[in-house]
Amino acid sequence: MEINPVKGTHDIVASEADKYHEIENRCRFFAELFAYKEIRTPIIEHTPLFLRSVGESSDIVNKEMYTFNDKGGRSLTLRPEMTAGVMRSIVTNKLYANADFPLKYFYIGPCFRYERPQAGRYRQFHQFGIEAIGAPNYHQDVEAVVLGYHIIETLGLKKVHVLINSLGDEESRNNYREALRKYFADKIENMCPDCKRRLEVNPLRILDCKVPEDIEIVKGAPKLSDYLSKESKLYLDSVIAELKVLGIECEIDNNLVRGLDYYTGIVFEYHAKMGEDAKDVGALGGGGHYAHLLKDIGGPDLEGVGLSLGLERLAYIYDLIHADDEKPVFYDSVDFYVMGLSESNIDKCVSLCDLIRREGMSCEQNYEVKSIKSLFKTADRKKAKFAIIVGDDEIKTKTVKVKNLVSQTQTDVKMDDLGHVLHSLLQEYLETIYAKLLEDKGE
Ligand code: AMP
Repeated sequence: MEINPVKGTHDIVASEADKYHEIENRCRFFAELFAYKEIRTPIIEHTPLFLRSVGESSDIVNKEMYTFNDKGGRSLTLRPEMTAGVMRSIVTNKLYANADFPLKYFYIGPCFRYERPQAGRYRQFHQFGIEAIGAPNYHQDVEAVVLGYHIIETLGLKKVHVLINSLGDEESRNNYREALRKYFADKIENMCPDCKRRLEVNPLRILDCKVPEDIEIVKGAPKLSDYLSKESKLYLDSVIAELKVLGIECEIDNNLVRGLDYYTGIVFEYHAKMGEDAKDVGALGGGGHYAHLLKDIGGPDLEGVGLSLGLERLAYIYDLIHADDEKPVFYDSVDFYVMGLSESNIDKCVSLCDLIRREGMSCEQNYEVKSIKSLFKTADRKKAKFAIIVGDDEIKTKTVKVKNLVSQTQTDVKMDDLGHVLHSLLQEYLETIYAKLLEDKGE
């Protein structure tokens, strides 16, 4: 019986994996430009970590965690996001001791949420993100927004839509929660069961409800902006003004509260407005400021700001943007396909391939004897740039035949000269292809 993949998971194969590499490399590149260092934390953590950080009022903790008991009876959870693990690591490893603040880390890896699979929503997905800890200052929030913006922009998106909001300080939020409780008191009967629970635990979460009838009710709710203290308003204005100086326009979205309980103050999200047939895959990423997260999980009282981007969603818009790009002929191809025409020739090819790889060029060879016709077919299928033919005559004369599979020209190369001659043949090949590409483009 065939074993299917787990619902909501997906395989990333060959050229798809190349695309993920490309996106991840951009993420790394920008994180390093902003002087963030990589942090890798385990995929499994003790469940209470997420209860204390992501929070018991969140949908993630309530409905979406992959939680299980291990054989020792400990409750463990597959991480639904990465910030909590980073904070835990900072505490475990006392990374704050004698540190120069802010601590700046970036991460890339898989996360797990038991959500209903749909466009842009998986049960195993990947996030890139950053955390800056120990800088209770709006410039650090701006830095997080700018970093994510640059990554998304360089994927080729013409307009990155940035939504921003402030959840205010403790007092603003408490006043606002009270106002929401009053507003929803006589409406909650007609709202979804989740909202009923949210009203009890944290009415702010109701603003995030995706049920269409509830969205209508939410439209009339009091606005968070009317409850912000003077300081919180000033902070938000300062962030927006600095982003503007840096060329990033954002739109205030009063209902943006984000799905994680640890945010306080500034929260933000990135969206793409693509063509009509593009699916709405939701936010490309988002983040915000957290004042107490590190303290809540047993660390020192340091504020922080984080950002995370969903790689599946970036991959989706990357495909839309680059759908019509022509791949150069050498894309996705091996440099040399080495053909041994008999068992003993194949043995010899093993050493030849070893030499070619040591020279930093890619190659593959046949391990089974096949007709030369079928070996050329394989070379074509693998999009090899050159074939190297090794038969008895070649072994005798210590000279191999190297055939350019685009121009079909063939060169005899002495085995002793192989390294440097292959380098120059490859160089010549690439120059010819580039020249042709430019000619086709009329440049
Ligand atoms: P969050 O940790 O909820 O703030 O999510 C940050 C980003 O991760 C979102 O903006 C999405 O791009 C991505 N993301 C979150 N959940 C999923 C999911 N189930 N499938 C794919 N991407 C997701």
